[in-house]
Amino acid sequence: MMPLRFAPTRSPMVLIAIAMIALLSIVGVVTVTRVSDQMAREADSRLDRQATSQAGALRELMVTASQDIRLARHSFIFEQALANTDGQLLPADRRLIESAIVYLGDRYHVDEICVIRASGLEVARWVGGEGVAPVADLSPDERPHNPAVLPTLALADDASFQTAPYVSPDSNRWAIGLATPIVLADGEHAGLLHFEIPIQRFVDELSQTPFGGSSYSILLDRSGRLLSHPKLADFRSSQGLPTDTRTGEFPLAAMSGSSSWRVAVAAMLAGGSGSVSFEEGGARYRASYAPVAASDRIVVAISPAIELYADGDRAHLNLLVTVGPLILLMLLLGAIGLNRLAAMNRELREQTVTEELLMADLRSEERYRSLVQNSADVNMVLRADGTIDYESPAVERVLCYRVEDRVGRSSLEIVHPDDRAWAERLLADVMRSPGAQLSGEYRVRHADGSWRSIEAVAKNLLDDPTVGGVVVNYRDVTIRKALEDELRQQAFHDSLTGLANRALFADRLGHALSRTRRARQRLAVLFVDLDDFKTVNDSLGHGEGDTLLVAVAERLRGGLRAGDTIARMGGDEFAVLLEDRAVADEPVELAERLLKTLHAPFVCQGKELFVRASVGVAMLTSTKETADELLRNADVAMYMAKTNGKNRIEVFEPSMHTAALTRLAVKGDLDRALERNEFFLEYQPIMNLETRDMTGVEALLRWHHPERGVVGPTEFIPVAEETGLIIPLGRWVLEQACRQAKSWDGFSPARQLTMSVNVSGRQVTERGFLDEVTQILAVTGLDPSRLVLEFTEGVLMQDTEATMVTLTQLKRLGVRLAIDDFGTGYSSLSYLRMFPIDVLKIDRSFVASMSKGPDQTSLVSSILKLAETLNLETVAEGIEEADQVAALRAHGTDLGQGFFFSKPISPEALSALITARDGHIDEASVGRNVA
Ligand code: C2E
Ligand code: CA
Ligand code: CA
Repeated sequence: MMPLRFAPTRSPMVLIAIAMIALLSIVGVVTVTRVSDQMAREADSRLDRQATSQAGALRELMVTASQDIRLARHSFIFEQALANTDGQLLPADRRLIESAIVYLGDRYHVDEICVIRASGLEVARWVGGEGVAPVADLSPDERPHNPAVLPTLALADDASFQTAPYVSPDSNRWAIGLATPIVLADGEHAGLLHFEIPIQRFVDELSQTPFGGSSYSILLDRSGRLLSHPKLADFRSSQGLPTDTRTGEFPLAAMSGSSSWRVAVAAMLAGGSGSVSFEEGGARYRASYAPVAASDRIVVAISPAIELYADGDRAHLNLLVTVGPLILLMLLLGAIGLNRLAAMNRELREQTVTEELLMADLRSEERYRSLVQNSADVNMVLRADGTIDYESPAVERVLCYRVEDRVGRSSLEIVHPDDRAWAERLLADVMRSPGAQLSGEYRVRHADGSWRSIEAVAKNLLDDPTVGGVVVNYRDVTIRKALEDELRQQAFHDSLTGLANRALFADRLGHALSRTRRARQRLAVLFVDLDDFKTVNDSLGHGEGDTLLVAVAERLRGGLRAGDTIARMGGDEFAVLLEDRAVADEPVELAERLLKTLHAPFVCQGKELFVRASVGVAMLTSTKETADELLRNADVAMYMAKTNGKNRIEVFEPSMHTAALTRLAVKGDLDRALERNEFFLEYQPIMNLETRDMTGVEALLRWHHPERGVVGPTEFIPVAEETGLIIPLGRWVLEQACRQAKSWDGFSPARQLTMSVNVSGRQVTERGFLDEVTQILAVTGLDPSRLVLEFTEGVLMQDTEATMVTLTQLKRLGVRLAIDDFGTGYSSLSYLRMFPIDVLKIDRSFVASMSKGPDQTSLVSSILKLAETLNLETVAEGIEEADQVAALRAHGTDLGQGFFFSKPISPEALSALITARDGHIDEASVGRNVA
């Protein structure tokens, strides 16, 4: 007799189970490593931030002091008093001066303030805690003791000088001197106003913002001396220096300590900011260092690694403790499940044997009974009308019915109402063809009223004279089902918030799409991303971040109807599927409602937190969109909402897509482009409109993309700004351009070209920008006055005070500053007046509009008038035609650039231009450089 073959319905389940377990284990392990890596990175950047913020505070201290001293000096009494005599002050002047320095001393928290004549004679002094010094105590010649005197006397009005640390003869402790010259109306340097800021101020400042229990900050100067260190005395004595902290010489940091510490010191002194690790006394430390701008000092924040990474290690442990057992449990449950599945397969195989026997020996009732009675499975023989002809006694154990109550009744009687139609169809299908065999799962009622899941295999043996019925073999699989459901729940839900996860969302969306299409209904997907959630994580820690996410999920869920699906897509991203007709028609209203649910503040660690989100909406517009496309569209729209200022809703439009796609593509490749040397510069001549001689060039960045060819800056600069790449990239541009400018000196010794370099706002606000410019100028040897830095108006509006300081300092270096694209931003006259600008670059759009009539032309002429009153040089951009040159000249524009003269060209082509005609481009040669 042919053995009965059972449908291989189980092996896919085994595979799915294995896959789920494998997946969960991998996810578990990956999560643990990722979370701890991330926490370590965050700990590092916390330390970095500590160093930069302390460096900022120290810089601030000096900046404020230097502003103060210059402000103070501007009281005219100093000039007058010094002009009235050559020696000590006249009594009336003395009264004025002394009350002025007492006032200053009280106000500005310095150690000592004095007024010194150019001859070195000290004419007034105030000392903190002591007050005004008697005339007899004043020094006849400060020049030998005070390192500020001579350098300050050489400075221009309104400049200030900072000394290296010295032991002040008055306070007898380490101080930094700060001084500004007193210049008379006729330009004579009559003397100086001098402040002393004790080093202790810096030490106090550094200890004011402790970072962690055993972490500390130190202060170094560029020559490697330790100005502040908690163990400064130890360093001193180990180097044989006097240990008095007030006057003892500062020790060299790299002269004592472990070898790894000395290596670390070398890194700190090498310039720029960064971080290093070192070992000392058997413990590992991490140090982040940052230069104090406009000084030769470096702040280093140091933390024992064990403490710095404690959070991470703890989290790692916690995760291992929670995830580890979870994985083990999963493995265990999985193994049990697998085992059961295997056992079932085995049983089914045995069952095959049983049935073979049954068929072979059906007349032997006794044997048949003894076999089936002990089986965990129940056997039934159904008649053609579906009623039970025979049922094995196992039903008494499995479902607790008595056999005699079952025989003669419909087999479908106890089937769950929801499954009945399906079971009926299954039976009908089997009945239809002799020999057919089908299997399925459905729920039946246990005698105690509960529902049990059973798995049944039915075979049509109606034709077989020895059976004459449908043989059904079934078993209770309730526990296995529960296990599977549990696995499914875990695989399809987010463990933190309990919301659906990405996989389930995609699945639901897929189903919804096919349903919607059939019914021609609408459907919308919302993509919700919390704004600046990273700062919450950074400032409150991940634990609080998670708590907040759970609370946010709760509110969002509360804002939806039962029929809508909400999922957490990862991190702080959520997606909502709107199927319900009424809502899907108004997704924007719903999105507004969701945003509103977030309005009330959340309370975290007793603090009120405001959570805002950006929402992208994508609606089904055609019948062709796939689930993936819809989700991506919503994501793109969300990205747009972020770009347009966050805390808002954007509805997807196809045009958003192209923008986002190129951005994404660019982002991926851009990271590596700098290392791979894929950037290069082209130079566009800037011409004197009158003489037609080249006066300078503007450096314009290009990217040689390995597949896409040359990509223009408008496509990748915004991305580089977003990712932060602009910082190293901008540095590269600056250095490259300065080097190039210097190399052209040889070509045209008579005419030295200026080099204009575009600088992004991110660069200006980056601490260290000034140092960077200073260094690059020093390294390349370019005269600062030949470098023009171009900023847009937007840069002036961002962080105005800090920008002001940076620009002023750049100016002091001798660098020239230009406003790029003038007229397209928020042109505010008062801003222009406030900042030390030299050049206005008139945007191309104005130049182009000059041919469009008198209104437009008058706009340009009023810009030019403004430039004239502010004494600014003007450069017209984007000159393409000869009559534009004429019109601009008529209005008095000095310089211009544009395709009319030359497109941006390679340095070689530009060299050729200089060599051939010494940079002269007249009508005869115009257009030759366009290609
Ligand atoms: P921009 O600073 O206003 O530079 C002038 C732009 O106008 C250049 O575009 C130049 O090729 C183009 N141009 C010059 N003359 C004409 C003309 O007669 N007609 C027309 N239609 N266009 C002309 P490019 O090279 O695509 O640069 C675009 C922008 O990218 C620059 O505008 C600048 O804002 C930015 N950029 C370029 N290089 C750098 C860089 O190194 N750093 C930063 N941060 N931004 C850069
Ligand atoms: Ca520019
Ligand atoms: Ca421009």
